[in-house]
Amino acid sequence: VVEVKDLRKSYFLGKEEVPILKGINFNVYDGEFLAIVGPSGSGKSTLMNMLGCLDRPSSGAVLVNGEDVNLLDDNQLAYLRGKEIGFIFQQFNLVPRLTAYENVMLPTYASKKSGIDYPKKAKELLKMVGLEERMKHKPSELSGGQCQRVAIARALINDPTIILADEPTGNLDSKTSEEVMAFFRELNGKGVTIIMITHNNELALRTDRVVTIRDGLITSDESVEEHAIHMKEALEASLLSEIK
Ligand code: ATP
Ligand code: MG
Repeated sequence: VVEVKDLRKSYFLGKEEVPILKGINFNVYDGEFLAIVGPSGSGKSTLMNMLGCLDRPSSGAVLVNGEDVNLLDDNQLAYLRGKEIGFIFQQFNLVPRLTAYENVMLPTYASKKSGIDYPKKAKELLKMVGLEERMKHKPSELSGGQCQRVAIARALINDPTIILADEPTGNLDSKTSEEVMAFFRELNGKGVTIIMITHNNELALRTDRVVTIRDGLITSDESVEEHAIHMKEALEASLLSEIK
């Protein structure tokens, strides 16, 4: 369970404090598959960074499995992250001087579980994302979509209980996007909680729950069925207003 309580985050622009998240409340329960949608600049990645324990809130709390992440020191945070969370970043965040294989192995240096053959697993994951022939290539030798797939493999190496994916299909063609979505669905079927940011409404509609963020606040939080109905109504209303 991830609990988010009155979460606020501001950034400083020079001396001016600019609020980005303005009091976010929601819970994500184990085994959910949810999408976070909203306009560019609304604070989605900022929220994701807090959920992933990569940054600390200005105020409010994020609890991961009951543990207030703000009470953990940096080492404990890194450990929690490595053990529980697989992060897929909007900008991939691959290490340029490491190969695809080495990038996938990276999280295992911080948090290892015993009895797992990580080199074998890394190769299997790379095979699964279709990069069997590319293991020894560095990010600069890979396309954007291939880098994204390396990032997905890396997010899975530690068998995370939660996957946080920030626009995981943003740089992928539609066929590969489909494969990634199908794969997320499969993982979710095995009990992995998936929180995915997307600009793509079609993809959001293939999750189970859609949370909309606007200007640093949650403006709707509904099941995918409700969301589909509301989208249809909004579309009809806008078409009607054009006719009038
Ligand atoms: P997009 O859909 O374009 O990825 P987003 O919803 O993910 O947008 P965020 O990246 O969360 O938006 O950014 C929200 C706002 O916070 C933006 O105005 C951005 O410029 C600002 N911002 C984000 N990170 C920082 C930072 N580290 N320092 C200062 N301002 C920041
Ligand atoms: Mg973003």
